[in-house]
Order: sequence, then C-alpha cells, then structure tokens
Amino acid sequence: MGAQQAMELIIRRARLAEGGVVDVAVSGGRIAAIGALPATLAATTQLDLRGEAWLSAGWIDSHVHCYAASPLYHDEPDRVGIAGGVTTVVDAGSSGADDVADFRQLASGAQTRVLALLNIARTGIRTQHELADLAQIDADAARRAIADHAGFIVGLKARMSGSVVGDNGLHPLRIAKAIQRDNGDLPLMVHIGNDPPRLEEIADLLGAGDIITHCFNGKPNRILTPQGEVRAAVTQALARGVRLDVGHGSASFSFEVARQAIALGLLPDTISSDIYCRNRLQGPVYSLAAVMSKFLAIGMTLPQVIACVTHQAADALRLAGRGRLAVGAEADLTLFTLTDAPQHYLDADGASVHASQHLSPLAAVVAGVLYPTDTWSAEYVC
Ligand code: ZN
Ligand code: ZN
Repeated sequence: MGAQQAMELIIRRARLAEGGVVDVAVSGGRIAAIGALPATLAATTQLDLRGEAWLSAGWIDSHVHCYAASPLYHDEPDRVGIAGGVTTVVDAGSSGADDVADFRQLASGAQTRVLALLNIARTGIRTQHELADLAQIDADAARRAIADHAGFIVGLKARMSGSVVGDNGLHPLRIAKAIQRDNGDLPLMVHIGNDPPRLEEIADLLGAGDIITHCFNGKPNRILTPQGEVRAAVTQALARGVRLDVGHGSASFSFEVARQAIALGLLPDTISSDIYCRNRLQGPVYSLAAVMSKFLAIGMTLPQVIACVTHQAADALRLAGRGRLAVGAEADLTLFTLTDAPQHYLDADGASVHASQHLSPLAAVVAGVLYPTDTWSAEYVC
C-alpha cells in the first residue's frame, strides 16, 4: 500500500475494546491497513474518532427475526441491522423450506447482510406450534432449500419447547440432527423454553456445532437447578462443544439466571437479541446494543461483550472472514460510543438492573460503505 493510493474510507484514532487506538483504511470494500497511518494518506471519506469513540469488527446479531412477510415475528432487516450498528443479522428460523426463497428475495434489498437459519418446519414460524405436526418436517425439502440457498442458509433452527412441539417430545430434535448430518453438519440452533421436553433430554442430544439459544431464560426448565447449580446435562453438553446464545427476546432473558451463570463461570458464546418489530419498539429488547449494555451492567467486560458479537459469533455460525479486524478481510465495522450515564434496564421478566454505562452504535460499515445511525455526529467527519 503506497501513500499515493487513495482509500475509500479512513477512520482515524479509533479505540479498540482490547486496548489501544488505531487507524483503519478501507479500499475495494476490504480492510487495507490497520495501525498508525500516514497523515498524508488520502481517502474519499475521512473520519477522526479522536480516541473517544470505539471501533470493532462489524457486530453480528446471531438471532433475529427479520422476514418482513412473516405473520408472527417480523421486521425489516435494516431496522434490526445497520440502524443499530449491526452489519450482519442471522434470522433464526422465521422461514422454512416453503418460504426461504421469498425471505431471501425480500432481504436482498437490505444494506445489512442477512443470513438465515432454516427452520426444520417447512412453514417456518407461521404459527406458534410449527413442530406439533411432524408432517411439517420434510428432510428432502430442507435439503433442496439448503442447496438452492447455499451461502444464505448458514444453519438450522429447531424450537424445542412445549408449545412448539406439542406431543412430539424430542422427535423434532432427532429429525433436526439427522437433517444436520445429511447437510454437511451445519450449525443447529435449538430454542429452549417450557417443557416438555426437559432441558436435560435436549442437551443430551446436542454436540459440537450446536447452539442453545435463550440460554439465560428464567423459566423453570432453565439451565440452572432450583439450587442454583448448572444442570449436569448442560455442563456435559458444553464440554462436547455446545455453545450458549443469549436470544434475549420478549420472554427469554433473566438477569438473575445470567448473573448466577456468569458467577459460575458460564459466559455466553454469543450475545443476540431475538429482536423483531414489537420487542424492538416496545421493549424489553430495543436493540442489540441495549442487550450488550445489560451484560456490561451485570459484570462482563467490554472485550468479552464485543467478542460475543464479533469473532465468537462468526465462529459459532462459521462465517469465514467475518468478525475479525484483519487486513484483507471484508470491511464490516461497527463504530460506537460507551457513555457514562445512569440507566435502568429491564429483563424479560420485568426485573431491573442499574447500569452506569451504555453502548450506543454510531455507524455500521458494510463492505466499506458507511451507514450512520441516529446517534452519529458530524463532528467525526474530517
Ligand atoms: Zn425462540
Ligand atoms: Zn427467536
């Protein structure tokens, strides 16, 4: 890289969560340089964060609902994506084999990168009980959808709680595991909630590559025993490589459970929102940044929280080339502030915590293109 080569975008004096202040240059949609760049290096757009605002690899929300045509849980990808500083959203099972093509078509106009976990029910989440009728699980249709939408479908989703599976118990999960095996061992995200099935039975079927979402829900079938210990089946599943995803949502996040789990050394692998229009507008989710701020409030560090929405999310969903600041990687970045301001946050059960700091996204950068949020300040433009 010569100093004479004009860049598309240079971001100067950006703070990093892991420490230090760097400049980042973007060319051809990719990160061209990271470090202290010469002042003479020219760019179409130059920003100076003055060591005040932060930069990370682009935030990845591992669990959202953004299939705009879905009747139950729907939203616009850019509202849950770039509007909140999120560069990649992963829709967790809103669509199935019947409608994933329609979802992909609708999402193709978004500036946010949109990926999908295919619901093992061919109808997706068109009802609250998509796995109560086993005839809805069609392995051949799933295989065709995965082949037709390679690169868009990055994994599978199975909602394994009583209201979803009806009388079918673990059966849908066994079929999900078979579909996973037959399709290159794609990541499988499993929603947990009220039993049946019991969490122990679910956890016993999971292994490396599988993700438990709603991991800190406060329902009786939670990851902790009534005595406050981690259920043995969960500990064993984690030892096999199962990952924990937050999936906050309207009814699936408890500060008490999260605090206890973290005190026992159980950190989430990925922090995700389970956002859709209603819990975005009316709470208790609001945004990925708000969910991340809750984890700061209960004792996770900024580097830990950022890891959960960058490289750990990329690893969990096997998104090669995402989630890391590296020369040559696609220039997906999130610019944000960490503000000292007292605030109360509510979990999904109505419990509140006091937070002294909160994260606010300033902008998303997707493939080198800057998308400012509502909290962007023109002061950062040189
Ligand atoms: Zn769920
Ligand atoms: Zn969800």
